[in-house]
Amino acid sequence: MANEELWQAVLAQIQFNVSKANFATWFKNTRIVSNENGEVLISTPNSFSKEWLSNKYNNLILKILHSLDEAVKTINYIIQTPLPEKVAKTKTKKEKKEINPNQMELEEFEINQKANLNPRYNFDNFIVGSFNELAHAAAWAVSQNPGSTYNPLFIYGGVGLGKTHLLQATGNRIVENFLEKKVKYFSTAHFVSDIIRSIKNHEIENLKMGLHQIDVLIMDDVQFLAGKEKTQEEFFHLFNTLYETNKQIVLSSDRPPKAIPALEERLRSRFEGGMIADISFPDFETRLAILKAKCEEKGIDLSFEVLEYIALSLEQNIREMEGALNRLLIFRKINNKVPDLEITKKLLYNLVASPSLSTNFKKILQTVAQFFNLKEQNLLVSTRRKEIVRPRQIAMYLLRTELKESYPSIGRKFKGKDHTTVIYSCEKIEKDLEKDNNLQREINLIRQRLYSGFSLK
Ligand code: ADP
Ligand code: MG
Repeated sequence: MANEELWQAVLAQIQFNVSKANFATWFKNTRIVSNENGEVLISTPNSFSKEWLSNKYNNLILKILHSLDEAVKTINYIIQTPLPEKVAKTKTKKEKKEINPNQMELEEFEINQKANLNPRYNFDNFIVGSFNELAHAAAWAVSQNPGSTYNPLFIYGGVGLGKTHLLQATGNRIVENFLEKKVKYFSTAHFVSDIIRSIKNHEIENLKMGLHQIDVLIMDDVQFLAGKEKTQEEFFHLFNTLYETNKQIVLSSDRPPKAIPALEERLRSRFEGGMIADISFPDFETRLAILKAKCEEKGIDLSFEVLEYIALSLEQNIREMEGALNRLLIFRKINNKVPDLEITKKLLYNLVASPSLSTNFKKILQTVAQFFNLKEQNLLVSTRRKEIVRPRQIAMYLLRTELKESYPSIGRKFKGKDHTTVIYSCEKIEKDLEKDNNLQREINLIRQRLYSGFSLK
């Protein structure tokens, strides 16, 4: 079998064994260079792919290769940078871009003014993993068939995890596919200020007329509607007008509709009336895949250990991972040298929560006690005193969410409380969190203290 044919056959099988995103990330631009004396030489586009294939996929590749060609006994990997036309073209653009290192974080994309969309965000550069699969699939479906699949589409998830990217990609794709459709992206904060200003200037009717012409309304961060009664009212009418004429509505928020405080019930039920998809946290492998894709986009070839370090250190926010990469890019620009692990650690020192800042039982107990002005011991004793019951439930809840402790193990820590008590406590907090604004704030503050290195006397 010719090398190329053999490799195609291998890839065809590997596709069944790895996720689509991973396949695209790790196996793009790989090929068999030679196959002699039982030794196959595979070329990879960069050191990172090489490392990853040889460490993680070697067994799988070997197994498949061997099943296709019994003579194959071992695999070696080399790096060969591919230079197809497209890459060469983006390179020129990058060279131009890198003239001023201070501007490197600013993107050089032309905003689509009419729709208020940034073409930088598209589906092609959006990595999919189990953490965002559902949201991605729903957004994609909407972009193919606006107004008829999921309406409204409501996407929620924590900061820096891709909500804006996904919303904008959806808008961009619709603009591309449906020239006649009027797409409009709003950040909710902007929408609120537009409404307030137009009311003040007696232009609200004009504004409304314009808004009612929209075919695809994209509203980012609708949690900011909280407490804005007048805007909520206008938005409610706009929503209904568009919805009734089968216009597409796409919304995002940092929490599910139920958990948005001070949101009119009628609006909440509209939000819940279509498709709700969440984005959670990417797993390690997906974080690596995202980093790798960003490196390619930015034209930097960092070592495996550097990317591994970033992926291990920044777990909860893709924007922060990008920020880390940008720092390394600036370093390279200024020093004309690709940062190694040691330099990376120094450069990212204040970005990365060091392992010593990760939390533990003692710290959770201390922090919760301090927050509520109690002694740690108070939290552990058995009592029904109201001022203690709640903090104790919060402590149990945090042990569960932050340390993933089992219910029985939490129970043992609290003077042998039965695990059903622990389950009750955790569920109680979870349930209350959905509607109790104050509790949300408290727990957020406690979390901040847990992780910010907040000093405990
Ligand atoms: P959010 O709106 O949820 O706070 P963003 O959409 O602004 O988050 O994402 C933060 C950054 O991370 C953006 O630069 C975005 O391009 C990038 N990003 C987020 N998710 C992905 C993903 N799945 N693949 C590639 N880049 C992503
Ligand atoms: Mg956003």
